[in-house]
This record gives sequence, structure tokens and C-alpha cells, in this order.
Amino acid sequence: MEFELTEEQKLIQDTARSFAEKELKPKAAEIDEKEEFPAEQVKALFDLGMMGMLVPEEYGGAGAGPVAYALALTEIARGCASTAVTMAVQNMVAEAVYRFGNEEQRRKYLPPLVSGDLGPGAFALTEPGAGSDARGIRTTAVKNGNRYVLNGTKVFITNAGYSKLVVVMAVTKKDPKEISSFIVEPSFPGFRVGKKEEKMGIRGSNTVELVFEDMEVPAENLLSKEGDGFKIAMTALDGGRIGIGCQAVGIATAALEAAVQYAKERQQFGQPIANFQAIQWMLADSAVEIEAARLLTLRAAYLKEKGVRFTKEASMAKLFASEMAYRVCHRAVQIHGGYGYVSEYPVERHLRDVKVTTIYEGTSEIQRLVIARNLLRE
Ligand SMILES: Cc1cc2nc3c(=O)[nH]c(=O)nc-3n(C[C@H](O)[C@H](O)[C@H](O)COP(=O)(O)OP(=O)(O)OC[C@H]3O[C@@H](n4cnc5c(N)ncnc54)[C@H](O)[C@@H]3O)c2cc1C
Repeated sequence: MEFELTEEQKLIQDTARSFAEKELKPKAAEIDEKEEFPAEQVKALFDLGMMGMLVPEEYGGAGAGPVAYALALTEIARGCASTAVTMAVQNMVAEAVYRFGNEEQRRKYLPPLVSGDLGPGAFALTEPGAGSDARGIRTTAVKNGNRYVLNGTKVFITNAGYSKLVVVMAVTKKDPKEISSFIVEPSFPGFRVGKKEEKMGIRGSNTVELVFEDMEVPAENLLSKEGDGFKIAMTALDGGRIGIGCQAVGIATAALEAAVQYAKERQQFGQPIANFQAIQWMLADSAVEIEAARLLTLRAAYLKEKGVRFTKEASMAKLFASEMAYRVCHRAVQIHGGYGYVSEYPVERHLRDVKVTTIYEGTSEIQRLVIARNLLRE
């Protein structure tokens, strides 16, 4: 068993950490307050090669692998959660196009997607009536000559207001139901960005509704083949869930760092509150839980890198990391007392940002279902 990172992985982690410290952390509060999409920071991530980390170099990516990607994303989330989710969805979309695209689609879409000309990419599965029940989607795609005509509405789509490439899941056959995936460009007739969500946390990230009204998609933009769409979505989410685990670990780390610093500075009863055992226990529990979650996410990433099945481990990492991060952020607010409740300190933002990690890409309840289903099958 080997816990050491490779030189390349360490370099990527260091690069992401220093970028997050210098360019993300100082601006995260303002991005949150203004609900401002972090365009400048996202462009810098493209320039750093962090937006195609799971795409091979021959298509313009970094080919860094799932472990290096997990390390980088964790550091980015430690600096700014809004930027991290933007990065996570872009990498997930780029990987899906690489994995399921044919050679022509790869050559056409991947280089501009990972360089930023088309990105950040978006992934459109969720609908008003289909969240946890992803198979319940109703958007239809009807073949008409050399085009598919799509009708339907997607909700909560990250990046889609800024994206020039959206992977869209739609129903191509009703009985038995078949779902297919398409590469969609916003310039296609019938594509419309609808309502933008105002969110509790990750407020700088872009979350919008998408409306397709007789949207015409060239037949050559079908990913893989008809009926493969659900498999494509679930494969993408398996990898994506490791990414959510990383986001949670990154945000929790930032919250713990803030709590440690505050505990040493804040004086009550004539001494730093860090002297009180009640505070020390909260700090210690948080540190232990963060390390446990970090190892779970890295283990899932390692299994993915080895090319073995990692569905259960990705769900375990996502479930544990997101729930522990919520606890850690909650304690960090508690340690700050009244100052934890106001925006002058970062921990109330961390608590708001982290909540969504227990919800998107499958709620905690759905992760438990996935884990149990795999246990019972084994
Ligand atoms: C900020 C944000 C960004 C997002 N980005 C994207 C994106 O880019 N692309 C995309 O496609 N989607 C995206 N989503 C959607 C997200 O994945 C869904 O919100 C999530 O999967 C839950 O679906 P839902 O909101 O419809 O909740 P529901 O499915 O309605 O769930 C409501 C409650 O019921 C529980 N529940 C449901 N079914 C079961 C069951 N079988 N057993 C036990 N409990 C159950 C859930 O756990 C939850 O507690 C995003 C969401 C948010 C908030």
C-alpha cells in the first residue's frame, strides 16, 4: 500500500493550492455577496490546464488522471466553492465527451472545450419532475431526417448560462423507455436559457433553467448510440461524485483553518478560547473527520485511475464527505460564536456553500441507496 503522491501529483496539488490561496480566497466573499460568476478565475483555470484534467493530451487536455484531479479540485474548493463547482462540472462534461464521443466529436469539440472557447461545459439531466428519479425525465428527442428535434425543460443546470457546450439527456423511445445523450450548442435553433436560480450558497456559480422548443440537433451530435444516455449520465455521475467529495473536503478544510485561527485569537475569561477543552474537541473531531473523508475520496479516485469499478466507493466518498463537511462547517460557526453568524467572517459562507454537497449529483438518501444496492448485489 502506497500513500505517497507522485512528483507530478504533488506539483499539481501545489499549483492549485497556491492559485487558490492567492487568486480565489481573497475574492470568494465578494463573489458570494454579489452573486458574481467568477469569469476571471475560471479563465485562469483554463490557462492553468485544470479544465481538461481527465482528457488526454492529444485532445488538448492535461491527461493528469483522477487522483491529480481530486487533489486539484480539493484545493480549489478550499479557496472558493463557487469556482470549484464550475471546474467540477466542466471536467465531468469534458470527460464524458472524451469517453463516449466518436473520433469526429472528440476532434471537433474537445480542444475548444478544454481551452475555454466552448467551456465551461454543462450537463443537463435534471428536470422539474425528475431529480432523484433521473429515469423519469420527459424531454423528448424525435429523429427527423438528419436531425433530432428536442422538446422539454431542464432545471438547476450548472454553468449553462455561460456554456457553449451542453450534454443533454432526452428520451428517444417511450416504450420501453430509452434515454440518449446529445452534444448541444446554444446556437442551435430552439435553445433558450430560462430562469437563473438565486441560491443559498455557491452563489457565484451559474445555475439556470434550459428550455428546448423544437430545438434542432444534428444527428451526428448523438453521443455514443441511441439508448446509451442513461449509462452515459450514470457513468459521468460516478466520477462526478468523487468531485463532490473533493469539494466537501476542500470547504471543510477552509472552515477548520478559520476555526483554528479564531480559537487562538479570541479571548474569553482572560484566555484564548482554544484553551477550553470543549473547543479543542470540536477542532479535533473536525480534523479527524476531514482526514477520513480525504482518504475516502482519494481511494475512490485511485480505483477510478486503476480502471476498476468504483460506483460504491464514489457514493461512499460523496456521502461521508458531504455530511462530515456540513458538521465541520457547523462547528466552525459555533466556535466563532456570534461572529460566526455574520458575513465579516468566512464560516457562515462555508456552511451555506457546503450544504449543496449533500444534495446535488444525488442526495445523501440516493447515495445510501446506491451503496446498499451494491452491497446487496456483492
Ligand atoms: C446548485 C445546484 C446545482 C445543480 N446542478 C445540476 C446540473 O448541473 N445538472 C443537473 O442535471 N442537475 C443539477 N442539479 C440537480 C440536482 O442533481 C438535484 O437537485 C438532485 O439530484 C435532487 O433532485 P431534486 O432536487 O428533484 O429532489 P427530489 O428528487 O425531489 O428529492 C426530494 C427529497 O426526497 C428524497 N428522495 C427522493 N427519492 C428518494 C428515494 N427513492 N428514497 C429516499 N429518499 C428519496 C431526496 O433525497 C430528497 O431528500 C443541481 C442542483 C443544485 C441545487
